[in-house]
Amino acid sequence: MSVQFNPSSNVAELQESATIAVSARAKALRAAGRAVIDLGAGEPDFPTPAFIRESAKRALDAGATRYTLVEGILPLRECIATRANERLASSVITPADVVVSTGSKQALFNSCFVLFGPSDDVLVPTPAWTSYYQILTLARARAIEVPGRRENSLKITADDLERAATPRTRGVMINSPTNPTGAVYSLDELRAILELAALRGWWVISDEIYREISYESPAPSLLDAAHGDARLRERLVVVDGVAKAYAMTGWRIGWSIAPTSVARRITALQSHTTSNATTLAQHAALCALSSREQSQSAIATMVAEFRRRRDTAAGMLRSACVDFVDPHGAFYLFVRVPSKAGDDAPGTTFARELLDTRDVAVVPGAAFRTPEWIRISYAAPMEDVVEGVRRVVGLLSSNRD
Ligand code: PMP
Repeated sequence: MSVQFNPSSNVAELQESATIAVSARAKALRAAGRAVIDLGAGEPDFPTPAFIRESAKRALDAGATRYTLVEGILPLRECIATRANERLASSVITPADVVVSTGSKQALFNSCFVLFGPSDDVLVPTPAWTSYYQILTLARARAIEVPGRRENSLKITADDLERAATPRTRGVMINSPTNPTGAVYSLDELRAILELAALRGWWVISDEIYREISYESPAPSLLDAAHGDARLRERLVVVDGVAKAYAMTGWRIGWSIAPTSVARRITALQSHTTSNATTLAQHAALCALSSREQSQSAIATMVAEFRRRRDTAAGMLRSACVDFVDPHGAFYLFVRVPSKAGDDAPGTTFARELLDTRDVAVVPGAAFRTPEWIRISYAAPMEDVVEGVRRVVGLLSSNRD
């Protein structure tokens, strides 16, 4: 039934998720019989490890079917707090600082909604995950795009933030390893950002959902950067979840670690929206986090496969002289599309042509506010990655001729 309506001002500025839209289009084309290679996906193409699935079955039989505390079951919050304290080499973080939410997406939404509002500016390193801009819009705050420089793998520096800051700046979003580029911030880079934020009294929201998926060396957390300096932790909110590291996207479990006063507000907000995250999924997340040896070995197997694909795909791009960001984490390759006269979104034009004429789905960089780029996900079987990248290279070079 089609009905004309005027959406409320709450959502007047809201845009659909561009990354989800690409996946939906690829799925629709597949359903219509086209052999589309989907390199648009933002989720591991692995099943949740069996020992985690088994724990959920046991929890279900043991009666994990009722409401829990809004902020989540205590053992899970304890486990999350313990892990965070290990990074800080202290015991300052308590379960009262942790709120378990329906995916890290909700944890990010909650954090932004509680900390920022009308007349607040928030610095967003750009490119960044598409939802940051929309979540800030929903909070009626203003996202200030801070472009990363190409020679710095599109990462921003403390100096870039300083230059972009406005008198109304209240916070900064950080995401490392980064979606969409795969770039990873060093401990020194994170520390400099945290120092500046502490000096200016800005909140730092650190989205660490890809932290376990890092190839050359472990990706540092902002908690590592705050190690030994309580001042640096005062305005830090770390968001994480089980989706990517444990191949648990559909279980929808994420969390925020924040000062207790902030956590309390987040709980109040969540108590009026979704209440607790699904009880059964909380138990599965507890199993994932607490079964260290099994989890580490499952993560290592998955990361090794991602690394193999990254090496192959990056090698193909390199030998075709394609410009792309050096990828060290997550499972994305960010590729520059040469601009043509009169086209201010060459990545969008390219992604459309790639899907229409070569049956490969990638995400246009415009989704991340960088319209000259496209994002290729290698969370797909190796043969799809190889064939998909071959077609990307083919279209890039035919456009060059
Ligand atoms: N942050 C980033 C940077 C992401 O890429 C995603 C998922 N695409 C999320 C958060 C959301 O993850 P979750 O499934 O935990 O909500």
